[in-house]
Amino acid sequence: METYKRIPLAFESGSGAWLTDTMGNRYLDALAGIAVCGLGHAHPDIQKALSEQASKLVHTSNLYEIPLQQQLADELCLLSGLEKAFFCNSGAEANEAAIKICRKFGHEKGNPSPVIVVMNGSFHGRTLATLTATDNSKIKVGFDPLIEGFIHVPYNDISALEQVYKTCPGIVAVMLEPVQGENGVVIPEHGYLKKVSQFCKDQDLLLVLDEVQTGMCRTGKWFACQHEQVLPDVMTLAKSLGNGVPIGACLANEKAAAPMTPGSHASTFGGNPLCASAALAVINYMRRHKMDQRVADLGITMLEQLQHALKDKDGVREVRGLGLMIGIEMDTDCLEIVSKAQKRNLLINVTAGNVIRLLPPLIISDDEANQIIATVTDVVTEFVSG
Ligand code: PLP
Repeated sequence: METYKRIPLAFESGSGAWLTDTMGNRYLDALAGIAVCGLGHAHPDIQKALSEQASKLVHTSNLYEIPLQQQLADELCLLSGLEKAFFCNSGAEANEAAIKICRKFGHEKGNPSPVIVVMNGSFHGRTLATLTATDNSKIKVGFDPLIEGFIHVPYNDISALEQVYKTCPGIVAVMLEPVQGENGVVIPEHGYLKKVSQFCKDQDLLLVLDEVQTGMCRTGKWFACQHEQVLPDVMTLAKSLGNGVPIGACLANEKAAAPMTPGSHASTFGGNPLCASAALAVINYMRRHKMDQRVADLGITMLEQLQHALKDKDGVREVRGLGLMIGIEMDTDCLEIVSKAQKRNLLINVTAGNVIRLLPPLIISDDEANQIIATVTDVVTEFVSG
C-alpha cells in the first residue's frame, strides 16, 4: 500500500553507526531507524543472541511459560522500579495495553466511562486508540469515528491539567511523553513531570509515561522520567528495546496491573524467545557499558557544540536536546535538509515540518559525533543562505 512516501534509497548492510546502500555508498546514520538501533547496526552481541536463540527456539506461545520473557520482565522491572510487564510487538501496541489498563482501572473504581488526559502535540501510535490519543489532526483525517475517552490539554502546563480535572468528569489517568519526539523534540520545563506525578498521586489517577522513543538510555538515563526521579504507574517501551527486533513492553506497578487478569489482554508473538533474547542482549550491553552515562555526557557535548555552531544563524530558532535526542528548530519548513544531508552521506530526519531531528545510535564514537555536527552545521548553513 502507498502508506509511505519513501526516499529512493535502499540499504544492504550496516555496521555500527554506518549503513551501506545497494550501490555501495556509505552513510553515517544519525537517525538509527527512528531511535530504534541504539546499539547501531549488526551489533555482535545482538547477532550472537539472535543466532544462538534462532538455532534453539524462536517461538512457542504465551500459553506456556517463557523463561527468557520472565528474565526480561525481571530486568525491566529492576531498571524501572515497576513490578509487572506485558510484552507486545510495537510502541502502539504497548500504548494500547496501557490504555486498556487505564480503562480497567477506571471500571474497577466504578467508572463505566473512564477518560484519559493526553497532551497537545502528543504522538502515541497509529492504531485507533493510540491515534485518538495522538494530537495530529492531519493523520486522523478519514478515520472517524475515532474512539471516546480521551481529552487533550496543553503540554508543559500543570494548571491546564488541574483545570481539566475540575471540569471533565470521569478522568482516571494522564498519559504523556517525557519528551515529545515526533512533535519536534519538545522538552518540558524541569519539574513539570514531577508536578504531574504528584497531581496524579493526589487525585488517585494513573500516570502513564510513553517512553517508546525516550526509553532505553536515549536521553541519558535508562528512562527519561528518571531525570526527575518520577516513577509512573505505567510505562511503555518499544523502539530500541530490541535494537530492531520488533518488541514492545508495557510495564506497570501492582496497583495498575492488578485488574489485568487472565483473558484481559494477549498477544501471539509478544515476548517470544527470539525477541526476548534480543532485548536481554540490549540490556546487558547497555548495563555493561554504562550507556546512560555515556549518552548523558556525549549528549551535552553535542548539544553545546551544535548550539555554538548554529548560534546567531538566521533561520535557526532553537537547538535543544536531552541526551542523544536533539532537535534543531528552524523558522520555516525544512524537509529539503534531509536530502542535502544525504548528499553528504549523513542520514537525518525532519519532524513537525521544521525541526531537524538527530537520533544517532547511542554507540557513536566522538569522531562520528563530530562528523554529524560538522555536516549538520554545513547543511543548515547552506539551507539558510538559500
Ligand atoms: N509512542 C511514541 C512516543 C513514539 O515516538 C512512537 C513512534 O514513533 C510510538 C509511540 C509508536 O510506535 P510504533 O511505531 O512502534 O507503533
